[in-house]
Amino acid sequence: MEHQRSSEEQGTVPERKRLIIASNNAGKIREFKELLSPFGFEVVSMRDAGFDGDIVEDGDTFEENAHIKARAVWEATKTPTIADDSGLEIDFLDGAPGVYSARYAGEGASDRERCQKVLDEMHGVARELRDARFVCSIYFIYAEDDEYSVRGEVGGYIGEKPKGKNGFGYDPIFMLNDDESMATIGEEEKNKISHRANAFGQLSKILEEKFS
Ligand code: IMP
Repeated sequence: MEHQRSSEEQGTVPERKRLIIASNNAGKIREFKELLSPFGFEVVSMRDAGFDGDIVEDGDTFEENAHIKARAVWEATKTPTIADDSGLEIDFLDGAPGVYSARYAGEGASDRERCQKVLDEMHGVARELRDARFVCSIYFIYAEDDEYSVRGEVGGYIGEKPKGKNGFGYDPIFMLNDDESMATIGEEEKNKISHRANAFGQLSKILEEKFS
């Protein structure tokens, strides 16, 4: 009798295989759902997957934090998991706010307060010392010992005052060139050039190679 090749043997995603995004952020889940739609996964948040553990993100790098999150959910569920971690690195501040980007001005502070803290710290610093980058690390655990890490970046510099109303977080103080900040370009444009888009692109290549 002819051996029926399983979908895994054929290199395709098994029918509606579950994939957990190690986040409960609706925007993030939506972005990943879109990215992963060609691959046939059933994409769920960690809450919907029944994971309600606390994850201590105490890594020194974006890569470490993404790994910590993915590993915690994988260990609890043994289900393919993707985690990401992102933020802003400023050379003059030795890489700060870095992994502290979300809480740089303390818990509960607003985006505006975080931006203002950075502007104060960069006050009077010459343009050539204001270089910065947004970074996005994604960690994907498909199975034990079948794990992938990618890092996307977009470079720019810290402006002297906020500019633009689009985007979120540090976008208004992140200048792409002398005219445009990350908050003056539209969402569509940002989604082509951003650190996240770059990391997504790398992850897509890995998934394409793995499942086609
Ligand atoms: P997380 O990866 O969702 O934990 O994001 C960490 C923090 O980095 C956010 O709270 C923002 O402050 C900052 N950040 C990440 N991505 C962006 C972006 O695309 N624009 C502006 N700020 C960002």
